[in-house]
Amino acid sequence: MVGAAIGSFINVVADRLPEGKSIVSPPSHCSKCQYKIPATDNIPIFSYLWLRGRCRNCGATIPQRLLWVELGTAILFAFLYWHYGLGWELALVVLYCCLFISLLLIDLEHSILPNKIVYPGIIIALAIASLGSIFGFEPSDIVGGGFRLWIVNAAIGGGIGFGILFVIALISRGGMGWGDVKLAALIGLVTGFPLVFLAMFLGIVGGGLTAAILLLAKLKSRKDAIPFGPFLSLAAMVTLFWGSNILNWLIPYLSPHS
Ligand SMILES: [Zn+2]
Repeated sequence: MVGAAIGSFINVVADRLPEGKSIVSPPSHCSKCQYKIPATDNIPIFSYLWLRGRCRNCGATIPQRLLWVELGTAILFAFLYWHYGLGWELALVVLYCCLFISLLLIDLEHSILPNKIVYPGIIIALAIASLGSIFGFEPSDIVGGGFRLWIVNAAIGGGIGFGILFVIALISRGGMGWGDVKLAALIGLVTGFPLVFLAMFLGIVGGGLTAAILLLAKLKSRKDAIPFGPFLSLAAMVTLFWGSNILNWLIPYLSPHS
């Protein structure tokens, strides 16, 4: 239920932030007839089903994305609770997932990665890693790589993420935007070293394969820009949840002695 409610909030962010509108006011309303949606018609998941995806006042269709995001975050948060248990690591991962899901949706629909989300994300990630270093706590899944301080680990990860996509952006001459480069820095700060390499690899391979499939299936032409942020965001979340497991599984194959 918490996941569905947060999904509902993410929908509001994804709708209003790219248009420069406030995310807190005015309250939820139909985008067509401005009808103010009463609380009883604003229940995540259920209201969409109950109203059969239409405004009660004017009958305009409500975008299906609202339902899928609410359902998706509800399922994701149930998974996160099962995976992390109650605690500060759960809160941290929930926070980062909200950032990445918002960026994923906005980049999919508007082909932009707003600084209004990426910059605060970078500041939050730096602040949390600094606090963890000062007070001596660090997430078991997120850090590794033999650096004693979380903030050092995070900063190196952020630098590597930024560096990799900066080089790709220079080579691709506009194929990869600067928004992607800044997002990569945020992802590196969040995943740290060495997991940032896995996140970048998954994002680049996932985006590349999807672009190839869309081109081959003639669903997109070479002129169409395929946003890269959604793949980076998905890769960041996969790396947060399973990165250590994937790396542990890969290490025997990467080592020349085994
Ligand atoms: Zn309406």
